[in-house]
Amino acid sequence: MNMRGHHGWIEVICGPMFSGKSEELIRRLRLAQIAKQRVQIFKPAIDDRYDEEYITSHSEQKFLCTPVADVEQILSNIRDTTRVVGIDEAQFFDESIVFACERLANRGLRVILAGLDQDYLGNPFGPMPQLLAIADSVSKNHAVCVVCGEPATKSQRLTEQSDQVVVASGEAYEARCRSCFDPDLSEESARPAIPVSKAAATA
Ligand code: ADP
Ligand code: ZN
Repeated sequence: MNMRGHHGWIEVICGPMFSGKSEELIRRLRLAQIAKQRVQIFKPAIDDRYDEEYITSHSEQKFLCTPVADVEQILSNIRDTTRVVGIDEAQFFDESIVFACERLANRGLRVILAGLDQDYLGNPFGPMPQLLAIADSVSKNHAVCVVCGEPATKSQRLTEQSDQVVVASGEAYEARCRSCFDPDLSEESARPAIPVSKAAATA
């Protein structure tokens, strides 16, 4: 992977919830900082607060980041000295993020995006298909299916809301494999067959 020199580069880290996307993003950004590269991190603002915040992983790692309303705000906030741009929850941005990432990479920046590749129905999420297509490097992470312990590629919603975006605490979703995934929520009683701790041990 070309992370040295002055060539621009787009990396996408995707997968379902709990697959370690934020952890991996944080890890790559930390390494860039150790290499003395200036890093800026953005994520979509969930509400109207634009104070500095943290991206946090489910294992409580965190990294300071700037919440933004849209892609335009990412571009206007990037400093001349920045070498690496991290973007979390990339699925929530509109399609203009694709062009923005191309622009940044063509200017010589390393762009690292993390996002859900699929929504709770298993459909491609927002601009992720285009981002995956134009990326120079793609990582598709797996979580652990909380029903059977196999690698999980789906985010199972456990509530009956039908909006594509439901921002809630971890209990609203769980990771499942293709065969345990139940987008219609018809087999709610089937979960979880084995404890998560045991499932994690088989990963
Ligand atoms: P993502 O950003 O993909 O939602 P995070 O990086 O926030 O994932 O969290 C990953 C961490 O979540 C794992 O390292 C593990 O500690 C924890 N975790 C909780 N449930 C699961 C699961 N079902 N499968 C894998 N990891 C899980
Ligand atoms: Zn399963």
